[in-house]
Amino acid sequence: MNTFYVTTPIYYANSLPHLGHLYTMIVADSIARAKKQRGIDTYFLTGTDEHGINIERAAEKNGRTPKEQADYVVSYFTRMTSEFGLDTEHGGYDIFMRTTEPFHYEGVSELWRRVAKAKTPHGNDALYKGHYEGWFCAPCAEYKTEDEYQKPKNEGDPPTCLIHDTPLDRVSEESYFFRLSDYEEALLSAYERPDFVRPEARRNEVISFVRGGLQDLSVSRLKTSVSWGVPVPDDPAHTMYVWFDALTNYITAIGFGNEERQKAVGFEKFWPALHLVGKDILRFHAVYWPAFLLAAGVELPRAIVAHGMWLDPNGRKMSKTLGNTIELDVLQKHFSIDAIRYFCLREMVFGQDGRFGYEGLIDRANSDLASGLGNLSSRTLTMIARYCDSRIPSPVIPEDKLLLAKRTGVDTDETTIAGFIEHARNQFLLHFENLAFSRALETAWSVVARVDKMITDAKPWDLAKDENQKPTLSAVLYRAAESLRWLTVLLHPVMPGATHAIWSQLGMEGSPAHINPAELKWGQLKDGAAIGEVQPVFPRIDKVKTMSEINAGEKPVHATEADTAGAPATQPAPPMTHATEADAVGVTSFIEIDDFAKVDLRVGQVLSAERVPKADKLLLMKVDIGEEQPRQILAGIAQYYEPEKLVGRKVVIVANLKPRKLRGYESQGMVVAASYGEEGRPVIATFTEDVPNGARLK
Ligand SMILES: [Zn+2]
Repeated sequence: MNTFYVTTPIYYANSLPHLGHLYTMIVADSIARAKKQRGIDTYFLTGTDEHGINIERAAEKNGRTPKEQADYVVSYFTRMTSEFGLDTEHGGYDIFMRTTEPFHYEGVSELWRRVAKAKTPHGNDALYKGHYEGWFCAPCAEYKTEDEYQKPKNEGDPPTCLIHDTPLDRVSEESYFFRLSDYEEALLSAYERPDFVRPEARRNEVISFVRGGLQDLSVSRLKTSVSWGVPVPDDPAHTMYVWFDALTNYITAIGFGNEERQKAVGFEKFWPALHLVGKDILRFHAVYWPAFLLAAGVELPRAIVAHGMWLDPNGRKMSKTLGNTIELDVLQKHFSIDAIRYFCLREMVFGQDGRFGYEGLIDRANSDLASGLGNLSSRTLTMIARYCDSRIPSPVIPEDKLLLAKRTGVDTDETTIAGFIEHARNQFLLHFENLAFSRALETAWSVVARVDKMITDAKPWDLAKDENQKPTLSAVLYRAAESLRWLTVLLHPVMPGATHAIWSQLGMEGSPAHINPAELKWGQLKDGAAIGEVQPVFPRIDKVKTMSEINAGEKPVHATEADTAGAPATQPAPPMTHATEADAVGVTSFIEIDDFAKVDLRVGQVLSAERVPKADKLLLMKVDIGEEQPRQILAGIAQYYEPEKLVGRKVVIVANLKPRKLRGYESQGMVVAASYGEEGRPVIATFTEDVPNGARLK
C-alpha cells in the first residue's frame, strides 16, 4: 500500500511556540496535504518532548509538577496549531505526540532493551555501563567537549556554554554508554544514499563530523540527578538521556513497542518517515538517531531534511533583545493563515535561511495574492457572472465563427494554453516533490501571469459589445475558469482555505483536497454549470494602516515566557481576524500634512519608452524631471500603453522613492497612475495645462 509519514521535530516543552515551530509545522502540513491529495495514506506527526532537567527546574520554579509544567506549555502549542489551522480538526496533524504518554514509555523501553542486547558491527556490546565525567550544560541537556564550550577567564571557574553563555556543571556519575564509536562506517555508508540527509551542504557537514571520529554517547543519568524521564528498563536507578527518549517518539507514535498504537496506526505501515528538522538539531537526527536504529535493527528513516532559519529583513538573527522577532499573535491578528503559509513557502528557498518581516509579508500578500491569484479569480468569475449569466461558458468556437475569432487575435487553438498549463503542473509537482516549494510556487504564478495576459489581450469587455463575438468571449472565459480550477488544485496543500473558497465560487462540488493534481485533465470543467457567489478571496492589506497598528505594539495576548506564573492557558483564543479589508474607494486612515510632504512628487516628461524583454507588464522609460540626468523608471503598464504613444507625455513622478531593481534594471522613481476596474487598469496622471519639468506637486 502506498503510504507516507512526515514528522516535525517534537518541540522541547520549556519554551513557548514561536515562528520557527510554526514554520516547520506549515511545511510538514503542506507536504502531508499534498500526499493526501494524491490518494496516499499519510501520517503527520508533531508534538512535544517533555522530559529532562530543564522541565524539572521550570516546574520547581513555578510550583508545579513536571507534568503540569509540560501541560502548561503544551496548551500553548495546541492553541497555536488550532489558531493556525494545523490541528486534526482542520485537516492538519494526525497526532500531537507527547513523550509523557504511557505508550511512549513502553515503546522507548522496547528500543532500549533491543539496543542493550545488540552487538555493534565490531562485535562489541552496543550498550555498556561506565563512568562519565564531563562538563554538562543543563539547558542543552548535553555534555560539552572542549570545542563546544568557552574556556573560563579565571582559572578555577567553570567553562561556559557557547550557546547559552551559562556556566557548565562538572558532572561525574555512573552512566550507560552507547558505543557510537563503532558505528562510524555504518553511518558513512548510510549517507551514501544521496537523498538520506538533505540538502547536500548539510549532508557534507554530517559526513565530515562523522569522519572526524565519534565518541561514545552517555545515554542515561542517575535518577538522583535527573528523575523526570523514562526509567532505564531493569535498572530504575537510571533515567534515559532525553534525546534517546525524544527521538524514539517517531516510532512509538505509530506503534513500535505498543500493541494499541500498532493497531490504531501501524509501525510497518508507515515507517520509515521523512523527518523535517531545523539545522541546529541535525546532528541528533542524522547521527545519533540512525545509530540507535542501526543497533536496534530498525530500518533507517526515509530522509532527514534540514531547513534554514528565519532571519529579519536585514539578515540578522531574530532575538528578543534586538526586538526583531515575529510574534505569532501579530501574525494571527493581522494576516490570514493562507497568506502566512504562502509567504513561508514562497520566501524561504527550502534548506537556506530566509528573511521574514511584516512589511515583506504584506507586500507578498498584496502583489502575489490580492493582485495576482485573487484578482485573476475575481475578474474571471465577475465576467462570467456579467457576460455569461453566471454559468460556465462553452469552450467551443463554432466553425463559422472561427475566422471572426481569429481577427481578434485570440488563439483559437485551445490546446496551446492547455499544453502550457499541463507542463506547468508537471513542473510544479516535481518541484514540490523535491521540497523546492519556492520554485513550485513560482511555476504556479507563471500560470497566473499567462492567464492574466490572455484575458488582457482578448479584452473580453470589448468582445462583449459584439454579439457575433459571443463564442470568442465564452472560449476565453472558459479557459480562464478552467485554468483557475487547475490552480486551486495545485495550490490547495499550500493554501487550503483560499483554494477551497475559489473552488466553491467556480461552482465545483466537494473540495480540491480530494482531487489528484497528477490526474487533472483539461476540459473537465463542465460548461453550463452555475458558478457560486463571487467574493474576494485575498483582500488587499492596507500597508500603512497595518504597519502602524503593528508598530503601535499592541500587547501580545500570549505570554512571552514559558515560566510565566499563573494558571495554564485556558482563556479562549481571540477570534480569528483576517487581514483588514481596505476599501478601494474610501479613505482608510488620515495622515498629517507632514506625512504627505515626505513624498516628493514632480512633473516629468517621458523621453523614451520601450518594452522590457520577457516582462509582459513592464515598460522601461527615461523621464526628464528637471534634473541633469533623466530618470530611468520601470512601470507595470505595458499591457495598456503603447510605448511610442507615451513619448513626450507629461507625467507625475514619485522622485524620492527608494530605487529598486526590476528584471535587472534599476527603477529610480515611480509613475503615478490611477487604477480601476476588475482588471486594475492603470491610467497615467497628466496635466491639461503646460507645466515645466521638475515642478513639485504639493
Ligand atoms: Zn547550552
